[in-house]
Amino acid sequence: MTARYLREEHQIFRDAFRKFLEKEAYPYYDEWERRGIIPRSFWAKMGENGFLCPWVDEKYGGLNADFAYSVVIHEELEKVGSSLVGIGLHNDIVTPYIASYGTEEQKQKWLPKCVSGELITAIAMTEPGAGSDLANISTTAVKDGDAYIVNGQKTFITNGIHADLVIVACKTDPHAKPPHRGISLLVVERDTPGFTRGRKLEKVGLHAQDTAELFFQDAKVPASNLLGEEGKGFYYLMEKLQQERLVVAIAAQTAAEVMVSLTKQYVKQRTAFGKRVSEFQTVQFRLAEMATEIALGRTFVDRVIEEHMAGKRIVTEVSMAKWWITEMAKRVAAEAMQLHGGYGYMEEYEIARRYRDIPVSAIYAGTNEMMKTIIARELDL
Ligand SMILES: Cc1cc2nc3c(=O)[nH]c(=O)nc-3n(C[C@H](O)[C@H](O)[C@H](O)COP(=O)(O)OP(=O)(O)OC[C@H]3O[C@@H](n4cnc5c(N)ncnc54)[C@H](O)[C@@H]3O)c2cc1C
Repeated sequence: MTARYLREEHQIFRDAFRKFLEKEAYPYYDEWERRGIIPRSFWAKMGENGFLCPWVDEKYGGLNADFAYSVVIHEELEKVGSSLVGIGLHNDIVTPYIASYGTEEQKQKWLPKCVSGELITAIAMTEPGAGSDLANISTTAVKDGDAYIVNGQKTFITNGIHADLVIVACKTDPHAKPPHRGISLLVVERDTPGFTRGRKLEKVGLHAQDTAELFFQDAKVPASNLLGEEGKGFYYLMEKLQQERLVVAIAAQTAAEVMVSLTKQYVKQRTAFGKRVSEFQTVQFRLAEMATEIALGRTFVDRVIEEHMAGKRIVTEVSMAKWWITEMAKRVAAEAMQLHGGYGYMEEYEIARRYRDIPVSAIYAGTNEMMKTIIARELDL
């Protein structure tokens, strides 16, 4: 079943992108996982070939491509491995802030380099003491002449090591009531005095993804790096988190599809008690259940993608898709590993890595508990 938003040109694009990944990503992915980082050279190749932020306006070096191209990129990257999530974040989560809220000067300065891969981006909301409770962040930005002086700490930041531009959520008015009205977004550049990176964090999964701590100690950020208006940061984040959650749902859906496919292949070639494992009815039923769940997830996520592309408000649906599909993918991962038997626990089998990688999708971009809180609010409870 092909989604209604996909046309022939998207399929051609998918084929070209997959060929690119077969040459530039699949052969090296295990090594990247061992080394704990995706090399910048891969980002540069993505940029050279038009696979970074293709939706950006031609005026700034992009291709003006619709969101369906982004969907294709997320799906194909996820098929290689979940550690490529940072590229998806750069493409469809961080760079859109610059395009939507940046001044003409900011767009001209940064967007072409986001497209070419010269600039890698990150978004820093979470702090050691505040994740879900975003309004409670304590990083401050105090205006001092033509600069903001930023103090605070961020953690769990995707692309934290590579990032040349970090969109930092900070309090320009720590006394605002309600507190979220005091949040602004500042673009902090790599060489900003007072901005340093901490550890590259050791994670359960996503081993090649560089997730890091960031520190700001009297970091002097030009006032011209403010994104949009002071005090509007929280609203900008809420608006853009819709696409972020959709991207997480798309990746989790793709991961679940990959895991079922790996498991099908495995049980069809593995034998026990003189039969193929796929011939046991209990195994067939479990695969039938998983196939049903991924079909339901696919139908729903495709609908949400269509609605998003039509510019509809998708707050409820995207929150539903994010929690349900990521939980479904976690169930699939556990079943898929079980059906691989002992080999499923061995690193040389892809399912082991998939099992480690999937749980975070229920945590980041807003935990699944927060998704349910949003849905409940939208239900007027
Ligand atoms: C690999 C990885 C990459 C990440 N990348 C980024 C990034 O690029 N940028 C960024 O800013 N952040 C990033 N994060 C942070 C992520 O978004 C947060 O971890 C997440 O939002 C949860 O915040 P927390 O960790 O502080 O958990 P907490 O908010 O402390 O939550 C702990 C538990 O309490 C639950 N909880 C909290 N409040 C409620 C409530 N009101 N009702 C019910 N349950 C509740 C949560 O759901 C969770 O189960 C990343 C995290 C990881 C692990």
